[in-house]
Amino acid sequence: VPRRPTFAKPQPLGELALIAAIRQRTSAKSHRQIRLGIGDDCAILTPPPRHELLVTTDFSLEGRHFRRDWHSASSAGHRTLARGLSDLAAMGATPLAAFLSLALPRSIARNPAWIKDFLDSLLTLANTHEVPLAGGDTSESPVATNGESHILADIILLGSAPTGRALRRSTARPGDRIYVTGTLGGAVTELAALQASPRKFRNAIATDDHPHLFPQPRLNVGQALLRRRIATACIDLSDGISTDLTHICTESRVSAEIFSTQIPLHPLAHVLSPAQALHNALHGGEDYELLFTARPATTVPRSIAGVPVSPIGVITANGKKHAPRVTLVEATGARTPLAPGGWQHLT
Ligand SMILES: [Mg+2]
Repeated sequence: VPRRPTFAKPQPLGELALIAAIRQRTSAKSHRQIRLGIGDDCAILTPPPRHELLVTTDFSLEGRHFRRDWHSASSAGHRTLARGLSDLAAMGATPLAAFLSLALPRSIARNPAWIKDFLDSLLTLANTHEVPLAGGDTSESPVATNGESHILADIILLGSAPTGRALRRSTARPGDRIYVTGTLGGAVTELAALQASPRKFRNAIATDDHPHLFPQPRLNVGQALLRRRIATACIDLSDGISTDLTHICTESRVSAEIFSTQIPLHPLAHVLSPAQALHNALHGGEDYELLFTARPATTVPRSIAGVPVSPIGVITANGKKHAPRVTLVEATGARTPLAPGGWQHLT
């Protein structure tokens, strides 16, 4: 008997109940930018005068961005929102509202504890950054022919920045110094430990330092970089320095040199060999710190919004007809090209 195609009619999952639960727990009313939140066909937002809108959307897909056997519901919920907030941080934006689309397998949809933990964690991070959840959609996930069904979350973030002032990837200039916030390599190091022993992390909570399970988006830093006119260009480190600095170089049509001894390593990476720790910091990805550039004459504080800032290199001009390239300068003075090393997804 042929199976009825499951994409034909997605089943609602107690949709009204879930939306009512979300609505009850979000205080969109108290945010002046929300004229109308959950409860109508659309939300109505009022951006501040003389600001423009910034919009970003990020999938968090089970099996690709998280795994049910490795990540608790609260880690999955936190990471879903953190990814979008980090993109707003990279542009110096102030969050206006978040929208969440969530498809859940039937087994999860009937598991109020999973949904509660997912939303608790997502809304806790939302409250920290004063971003209201102003809408979304829910559905039961389609079931594949092998019977599998996955958690699929899509977060949409709207932010605002003074017109013409949002930080970009394309505006770095030769001579600019390169800086990163926080420490690097922690997320991939924690992911490797999680992979080896998922049960050890079962009760991890966001208030401890868990760079992979609960990354902290650097919104306050991004906003300060914009407001204080410190940065000439900025990106968030979602894929690792080697990839994300290459994005800045490509978009700005410049090259870069970074110094291996100046890369700030996450404490978790200190248990590794120095070479492995540096590799994780350069290529690990998902640290969600900011990488930015500033004119050499700009005084860049050692810490911004409570987050340490480290100088790691300098922007240089492209050679004639040469593509942008990133060079790693080691303690010995050895210079090696740094190819985008790429964050490997879970599957
Ligand atoms: Mg980004």
